[in-house]
Amino acid sequence: TSNASSRIIAQTERLGARNYHPLPIVVSKAEGVWVEDPEGNRFMDMLSAYSALNHGHRHPRIIAALKEQADKVTLTSRAFHNDRLGIFYEKLSTMTGKNMILPMNTGAEAVETALKAVRRWAYNVKRVPADQAEIIVCEGNFHGRTITVTSFSSSDEYKAGFGPFTPGFRVIPYGDIEALRAAITPNTAAFLVEPIQGEAGIIMPPAGFLKEAAELCRQHRVLFVADEIQTGFGRTGKRFACDWEDVTPDMYILGKALGGGVFPISAVAADAAILGVFEPGSHGSTFGGNPLACAVAIAALDVLEDEGLINRSEELGTYFIGLLRGIGSPAVKDIRGRGLFIGLELDGEARPYCEKLKELGILCKETHATTIRFAPPLTITKEQLDWAFARIKLLF
Ligand code: PLP
Repeated sequence: TSNASSRIIAQTERLGARNYHPLPIVVSKAEGVWVEDPEGNRFMDMLSAYSALNHGHRHPRIIAALKEQADKVTLTSRAFHNDRLGIFYEKLSTMTGKNMILPMNTGAEAVETALKAVRRWAYNVKRVPADQAEIIVCEGNFHGRTITVTSFSSSDEYKAGFGPFTPGFRVIPYGDIEALRAAITPNTAAFLVEPIQGEAGIIMPPAGFLKEAAELCRQHRVLFVADEIQTGFGRTGKRFACDWEDVTPDMYILGKALGGGVFPISAVAADAAILGVFEPGSHGSTFGGNPLACAVAIAALDVLEDEGLINRSEELGTYFIGLLRGIGSPAVKDIRGRGLFIGLELDGEARPYCEKLKELGILCKETHATTIRFAPPLTITKEQLDWAFARIKLLF
């Protein structure tokens, strides 16, 4: 067929590098939980751009903030001050309880920033011998796609052909407190962890692990660094996923939904005793902290609070997991998650299910081959979840 969608897909695939394998659907319009293709077919978005769209597509208040700021100033670089950055800092500082913020653009850049910060902290504050700092990470981790972040991935798919890799990382099994204890040395700078592993397939650590790990880190003067890029800002039904165990990390790495699904912005939040290790010239980004991104992020943080999206995620997540548990098919191996961050693990490949769901009007994406991730915008209604479930049920 040569409708608009197939022409657009062909055009995209002709010149694009093949580093993605998208479902064959073109999104040309979107609003709230709904997206539309050029032929006018509507689909419910249950991926939310990997949790970057917690506020739904084109939230009116966020779009208004974008437009308003676009008419004033969009970019200053950090060579000059802008009048949005301070307000953004204040909001994010209040939300994280941390007194220093460093803004970047993408998640991977924020992770790189965190790695640089904890290494510097290890040398300047903890007095680890030069170039000996170690960072502990977990098997199955996903923290981004740069060479250094790829260096400590445990997935061949992410690493093959990209060496030589950055040294200084130790990998332990996710959720294994004894392995963490054994991996800590006097040179350990930090433990970097996703409180729930997203890309690995919505994997939750054993109950109590985050709390014990944070305590172990405190005892050994190791920084506990939480990558909440995917789990933050209400996705799991709490402000941050660490809140599920009342854990306060030394450092938060944030991104995705911070930009309200509208504009990329990421950040690292920690106290000055840690993030204070940077002096002018030691780190930066041309677009980091730009006023357009800050204006969008300020609106995104306000909407999260004003619309009670965090509680909504918890309530509706519990409701939806309950519905999914009712499927009772032998093809379903496990249903897990927190808030509207839900994994449905199958006994085989998940992609055919995602393709069938697309035919039924629901967009989602397999993660780790056998798991379907359901992560709709947090603005979704109970009726919309019922609508989705009525279709999901048809697959089993
Ligand atoms: N960290 C986590 C936990 C993520 O889920 C992701 C993206 O999926 C990243 C980091 C990388 O973010 P970005 O794709 O914005 O570089």
